Amino acid sequence: MTSGELRRVRANVVLQTNYLHAVPRKGPGLCEVCYGAIDPKYTRCLKCKRMESAARGSLADLVVPITYRIDGQHAHDLRWYKKTDVSGTEAHRRRLAALFWYFRDHHIACVKEAAGLSSFTHACFVPSTKTPESTHPLQELLAPAVSTLCLIDLAVNTDVDSESREFHKDWFRLARIPQGRRPDADVVLIDDTWVTGSRAQSAAYRLKRAGARTVVILVLARQLDAGYAHTQRILGPIRNSTYDLGDCAVHDESQPRG
Ligand SMILES: [Zn+2]
Ligand SMILES: [Zn+2]
Repeated sequence: MTSGELRRVRANVVLQTNYLHAVPRKGPGLCEVCYGAIDPKYTRCLKCKRMESAARGSLADLVVPITYRIDGQHAHDLRWYKKTDVSGTEAHRRRLAALFWYFRDHHIACVKEAAGLSSFTHACFVPSTKTPESTHPLQELLAPAVSTLCLIDLAVNTDVDSESREFHKDWFRLARIPQGRRPDADVVLIDDTWVTGSRAQSAAYRLKRAGARTVVILVLARQLDAGYAHTQRILGPIRNSTYDLGDCAVHDESQPRG
């Protein structure tokens, strides 16, 4: 990216800070896997616990949401960027792309540190289960941001209900992981919104079973359900906090502030 493009990306994200919701560090009341709201008596949400036992540990090593999705412009962007037949799609795309590029440039080092990696070897996008024959719009939008990594294409098993909210070991197919820069495959698996995580974790499971050493799920947004009682407790602080460009959910304080 040229310095002019970098400035435009930053300016775009600065404008979004008016309404973006930051993801705090893990702590009581947050699922230690997915950052969803939970009863503070527990460490994981029921969904993550169930997936963990179904997958017998073959899930993502780390899940990092860049933001929370609650309502407002950001939720709107995440909903509409995929549509090709509505006006304004380009602006939705530009905002989400700027958010991702900025995060990549300023916080991917934090993600790698949290996962114990010096670098990623592969990138993968969670495919669309509703339109498996076409490239996911997120991949079209963000593939240039991970172009130095070896891209993995997962195939979709259309026998599984495309709207399922459950974890499925056989939802995605992959014969083997393509040869990357090193024998070990350390994969960043990218998705737009984490609702239950079942789709992203089903994809992580397939990557692990195909031989990936590490899988880190990076999502643009972790959706929060405001109607859920435990969400209510964390909602106030989240709504009142400002999105800090120099911070992230797994921030490594040795990184320069953005
Ligand atoms: Zn969870
Ligand atoms: Zn960071």
